[in-house]
Amino acid sequence: MERTCGNGTLRLADAGKKVTLIGWVQRRRNFGALVFIDLRDRSGLVQVVFDETLSDSIKDVRSEYILQVTGTVVERKEANPKMETGEIEVHAEAVKIINSAATPPIMISDDTDALEDTRLKYRYLDLRRPSLQKILMTRHKVCMITRKTLDSMGFVEVETPILARSTPEGARDYLVPSRLYNGKFWALPQSPQIYKQLLMIGGMEKYFQIARCFRDEDLRADRQPTFTQIDVEMSFVDENDVFAVVEKLMQAIFMEIRGYKVEDHFVRMTWDECMKRYGSDKPDLRYGYEIQNIGEIFADTDFTVFRTVLDSNGEVDAVKFDQAASRYSRKKLDELQEFIKHNFRAKALAWLKMEKGELSGSIVKAISDAEKQALIEKLAITDDDLVLIVADKPHVAETALGALRIRLAHELDRLPKEETYKFLWVTDFPMFEWDEEEQRWQAAHHPFTAPRVNDINELFTDPEHVMSRAYDLVLNGYEQLSGSIRIYDQNMQEKVFESIGMTMEQAQQKFGFFLEAFKYGTPPHGGFAIGLERLIMVLCGTDNIRDVVAFPTNNSAVDLMSDSPNVVDQAQLDILGLSINKKD
Ligand code: ASP
Repeated sequence: MERTCGNGTLRLADAGKKVTLIGWVQRRRNFGALVFIDLRDRSGLVQVVFDETLSDSIKDVRSEYILQVTGTVVERKEANPKMETGEIEVHAEAVKIINSAATPPIMISDDTDALEDTRLKYRYLDLRRPSLQKILMTRHKVCMITRKTLDSMGFVEVETPILARSTPEGARDYLVPSRLYNGKFWALPQSPQIYKQLLMIGGMEKYFQIARCFRDEDLRADRQPTFTQIDVEMSFVDENDVFAVVEKLMQAIFMEIRGYKVEDHFVRMTWDECMKRYGSDKPDLRYGYEIQNIGEIFADTDFTVFRTVLDSNGEVDAVKFDQAASRYSRKKLDELQEFIKHNFRAKALAWLKMEKGELSGSIVKAISDAEKQALIEKLAITDDDLVLIVADKPHVAETALGALRIRLAHELDRLPKEETYKFLWVTDFPMFEWDEEEQRWQAAHHPFTAPRVNDINELFTDPEHVMSRAYDLVLNGYEQLSGSIRIYDQNMQEKVFESIGMTMEQAQQKFGFFLEAFKYGTPPHGGFAIGLERLIMVLCGTDNIRDVVAFPTNNSAVDLMSDSPNVVDQAQLDILGLSINKKD
């Protein structure tokens, strides 16, 4: 079909040119004998003017009809600054109606007021909106940059099976029944973890894949049951080699997409330090408000609340917020107290304010003058400062203050005004986490993660304090990547299975093929996976994960457009040897 350029590409410099355009009708207005139509394609909108010689041939044309127009680009008498093509318009000389359209059920515009469920039902119309098209194009570009950058570093893109064996990421598997072997099931991979490690054993040395992953989890706001990872694995590496690859990739992506120069090397912090300083394993470093341990000041205190906490191995922690005392009334401070009691099971929130050189607050009468003076010095408290204090079990005190840190930074509007990306490597995560339900230790990352070399002897004696060689990359308070240096020694792998309560028979049954592979000269290796959707969300400034997926499910894990999941024919069930036994 003839088409000389994209509608949104025309500029004043094109005035006088003859063009042929194709596009959807965004909007039609009649002015006496003249008809004005904004014609839209992927590149944008342009105004086309039809005079009386053509108005009859387009008399039926409405929104979303597709037209092919030939005409001349003309400078507008009055430019429209709201349109990128606003300095010109196209005077039509010939028009062909390529297709008609029923009245669309949603308004196709970025300021559409349609409910999200309606937009998802008609996603193909929703996708015509410029903002969604832009996001999909950004997603495409990120994939292209990823391929180019990783290729330049010697990585090879390899596809791994979608019909696979259950993988160990800890979520619920999506299962696919086998027709040939009734009663047996495939699992859709939660990640290509086992396959990418097998590729290292297979001698590929540097692998990557833009991989689809499937996890049958309850949906949270930022999750989809199917999602994509930039999945990478490398042989003969330690953390430094892995981090260098990620840093180079992030530099390329942020430069090409945002024109933003990220640091050459990202800050590193152990998990332990992160928790102590920020009360979170994914701290937002765009603002300060670090947690300070003030226990020492109260070592000999008479204040019984602090005394009791400190005597039972608890912690007294504080965060100072500058220029905040006058912004937090008693009522607001009570709300903060409720917030941490309710969400973090913290017992109480204590607070102090410095106003006109005078310290006031909930504990001011309970602590001594010397303690007050020591606090003022340690936290460098000055006028209009607000100090929030939590005395509790270490983890409770830190996480509660970590959450208050985030909340107050937002309430006080303390995030940088200009675009800022603060990357952080979090390392040395705990190897295990306690599973209340099953009353046993679980691998915190996955069971192929190597323990820290010095901690190996404590695998069985003190699992709580064994740290691993797992790492996360955090960006502005969100986890963007996780990965680890892997175990490559069969004995060690067996030990780790044992320490999470998996007998060798169970391990053999689940991962026997994998353990077998370890026998034949497994190279030391490590890798990571970047959550593609979250990365695109940051790059496009949206907090809705469905915006960055072409055909997402809604937040009840339903595809409203195709009405899936759905029932299947009895014949299909019969062939698979299945019968339905509904839970409810
Ligand atoms: N497979 C891991 C995940 O999906 C990432 C990795 O360890 O490479 O989180």
